[in-house]
Amino acid sequence: MANAVDPDCLFCKIVAGKLPSDHAYEDDEILAFKDIHPQAPFHWLVIPKVHVATLNDFDPEHAGLIGRLLLAAKQLAADHGLPGYRVAMNVNREGGQVVFHAHLHVLGGRPLKGALG
Ligand code: 5GP
Ligand code: ZN
Repeated sequence: MANAVDPDCLFCKIVAGKLPSDHAYEDDEILAFKDIHPQAPFHWLVIPKVHVATLNDFDPEHAGLIGRLLLAAKQLAADHGLPGYRVAMNVNREGGQVVFHAHLHVLGGRPLKGALG
């Protein structure tokens, strides 16, 4: 079960307003902001405000939240007029995850190919 906040977590600090970030989208449950090291002309992160470390830590009770994270990604892409985009989630170190507060990457603004290109 996830804790609401992890005081040592970078993204919890962003949610709490203790670290600067460029907020694009925010509601009661979700925050979206620009990735600090963009891998595409458009690269935003969509996160739950509640601290959940990885996709593996989501429970069935989070199903609605997971759906709303994806809908927020869709809204972000629409708001920025992206004709196509990618939504990705890294899971665990072996899956490329560096920040252990679950997040969706929303990438676009350049042609994307295959799973990684
Ligand atoms: P992960 O590899 O965990 O899926 O992705 C973490 C992402 O968070 C990386 O793309 C990294 O650039 C981004 N990131 C790390 N620290 C910060 C920060 O302090 N602010 C913002 N806006 N993004 C960050
Ligand atoms: Zn956190």
